[in-house]
Amino acid sequence: MPELPEVETVRRGLAVAMEGRRIEGVEVRRRDLRIPVPAGFAERLQGRTLLHLGRRAKYLVGQFDDGTVLLAHLGMSGRILIDPAGGEAAGAGNVDPGRHRDHEHIVFRVGNGTTVRFSDPRRFGLMTLTDEDGFPDHPLIRNLGPEPLSADFTGPALAARLEGRRTSVKAALLDQRVVAGVGNIYACEALHVARLSPRRTAATIRGVRAARLADAVRGVLRDAIEAGGSSLRDHVAPSGELGYFQHNFKVYGRDGKPCPDCECAAGIRRIVQAGRSTFYCAARQR
Ligand SMILES: [Zn+2]
Repeated sequence: MPELPEVETVRRGLAVAMEGRRIEGVEVRRRDLRIPVPAGFAERLQGRTLLHLGRRAKYLVGQFDDGTVLLAHLGMSGRILIDPAGGEAAGAGNVDPGRHRDHEHIVFRVGNGTTVRFSDPRRFGLMTLTDEDGFPDHPLIRNLGPEPLSADFTGPALAARLEGRRTSVKAALLDQRVVAGVGNIYACEALHVARLSPRRTAATIRGVRAARLADAVRGVLRDAIEAGGSSLRDHVAPSGELGYFQHNFKVYGRDGKPCPDCECAAGIRRIVQAGRSTFYCAARQR
């Protein structure tokens, strides 16, 4: 499932191709995504110019010249690819393109002859519309916690969000109200960097521990963005390029393997917390 670094990689690729350009045409082939594509979606975007493509948590946020705001989420398996004008289809040779070819739900034609294709085999993704006034209070947006790469995300801010929480810190990090955009992979990796046990009660993360965890979350996300995200199954950049942060995982998916930079004999172990796999080193993470 795409997390913040994968969505940010997609955002950067799309921004280069779409910002400042007019949407010439929109084709909606399938409306029943996680929430239905709203009536009039294509008509509202046709002829509009995309002024800015931003990101909030795992949402892409497109601002158009008439105040319309496009919200897009990649769900579990979403992918957005760019076919440059007259160019070959992007993504040739990338991970499992066949799985996506038959699941292109929304296609945008952009002013410079570029085509942008949103595919999502599992259809947990979405594209919907709001406007500048409606955006902050939109039901998908209003309860999101701080952006981890913003100045608001500090040790004290994280500690305040974890105060009184009796769940594990691992489960708390996946709660989008605590910190926006972190999912299973980067929660596991950040806890390893911070040397904190994923089983620890969230409320015990205060003071230096909270500062260490906030730093670790930021650091892991920055490194992953630098690597173009993690390409495990569906994630590719809009150019079709694979991310490579999966080669830098210290714990995720590495159960039974040696723990990097650690003297522990047992290596990485896998447990299940709140229905999700957690990977960690019981010696290093306390
Ligand atoms: Zn270890």
